[in-house]
Amino acid sequence: MQTGLWIGGQWRGTLGEHGEFEVIDPATMETLGHVADGSVEDMAAAIDAADSVHETWAETPARERSVILRRAWELMTEEAEDIARLIVRENGKALPDARNEVAYAAEFFRWFGEEAVRGHGDMRRSPNGQNWIMVTEEPIGISLLITPWNYPAAMATRKIAPALAAGCTAVLKPAAETPLTALAIADLLARAGLPDGVLNIVCTRRAGELVEHALGDPRVRALSFTGSTEVGRTLLSVAARNVVRTSMELGGNAPFVVLDDADLDAAVDGLMVAKLRNGGSACTAANRIYVSDRVADDFVAAFSERMGAVRHGNGLDEGVELGPLVNLATQQKVADLVDAAVGAGATVSVGGGSEGLPGYSYRATVLTDVRPDADILRHEIFGPVAPIVRFKDDAEAVALANDSEFGLISYLYTRDLDRGLAVSRRLKSGMVGLNRGVVSDPAAPFGGVKQSGIGREGAAEGMREFLEMKYTAIPYR
Ligand code: NAP
Repeated sequence: MQTGLWIGGQWRGTLGEHGEFEVIDPATMETLGHVADGSVEDMAAAIDAADSVHETWAETPARERSVILRRAWELMTEEAEDIARLIVRENGKALPDARNEVAYAAEFFRWFGEEAVRGHGDMRRSPNGQNWIMVTEEPIGISLLITPWNYPAAMATRKIAPALAAGCTAVLKPAAETPLTALAIADLLARAGLPDGVLNIVCTRRAGELVEHALGDPRVRALSFTGSTEVGRTLLSVAARNVVRTSMELGGNAPFVVLDDADLDAAVDGLMVAKLRNGGSACTAANRIYVSDRVADDFVAAFSERMGAVRHGNGLDEGVELGPLVNLATQQKVADLVDAAVGAGATVSVGGGSEGLPGYSYRATVLTDVRPDADILRHEIFGPVAPIVRFKDDAEAVALANDSEFGLISYLYTRDLDRGLAVSRRLKSGMVGLNRGVVSDPAAPFGGVKQSGIGREGAAEGMREFLEMKYTAIPYR
């Protein structure tokens, strides 16, 4: 298990005074390890390392970059079980979720390894016939990558792979709750043949200070951030000082809409995934469940039965479907949201509380009698709680679904494809799961509208976040 900072191809301790910080297993509350607590000096050293090789990496033939990324995919696939178990131990999620995450994370290496060799740019002719317009795309430069704890592997590879494929060097700052997975990925990339200094990792307990320093360094030209809208807003203003290109994958508050003609079995299956994947700690988690009045009784009965049967426990144990939340603050936040909802008239029809469960767990919970203006619908729950609201017709469903400052993803269930596409078009979100409880795919442009973000990750679009367009004027002959 690597626990140092990864800078310039060396594992090392911090240059600062803080030494190390603890990483806790949220199921047992035991210390999993101690990780070097990076300082501003370490961040500066990481940027120096990225700077020292940025020209050679940008000039490295795309095929060579591609081969390294492909090798990283192979290694991650071969070592998937070990990485999945490490994720469970530092994050708490159930092992099946962690295995899915590793497969998804590895795919970004394969996908962007393939994208790396696709030529970008074109040649156009000026309308007056006096000029050729040559458009090329170049690596934007040193990129700062910041990731959250909920998908410690996938959120890292979703940034690292396109940045490296585009020819950029990078510094990654993983979440302090889950640094070990990021360090394991650095180790894997080194074994895949990534030259020293191309990727650097600085873990820290003082994210704000280090990131502010990095964004003040004129050599850093891109910021790719995944995390909460609140922190994203702050970083947008910090990045504005040096006019740094920003790519923001922020919070979600996904509506899950069940129309009156939906296949209810499929909708329940879809909601189980959309709600419980990653223990509910996903930006794509179904957060507000809107069900047509005409089918609500049957739907709630079937969904409640499934939620009541969920197997809780330590995420590493065989058969466990739902592990603990990441820390005490998250557990407390979920409990407070449920208590407030009940205080405002909601009914706990299944679950509620944490009694008898390990670590920072919270029971899979269904809330009914939730009013459309209930406070819980305004918050990203980030836990296994499903508040259900009834609606009368499609127009009301769309209005309720769109009543949020977030717009990452919406889910919609109907048997009628025309109706589904008509309603999807009116949903204000960057992604729609139409009769699907999961949409994540490395080949798809992932991202949100409104306060859920700026830019896209995955697909060809994910690499453009790390490319800069250049126009060269050439006299026409
Ligand atoms: P967070 O508190 O915003 O933290 C995200 C990252 O930012 C962490 O590495 C964190 O470091 C760092 N950070 C915190 N404060 C900072 C500051 N002032 N300056 C610079 N960096 C700072 O989010 P989280 O709780 O880890 O993750 C959950 C959030 O991420 C949810 O809102 C979820 O919806 C969102 N998310 C979005 C997507 C998407 O694709 N749209 C995907 C996954 C998650 P520390 O760990 O040291 O605090």
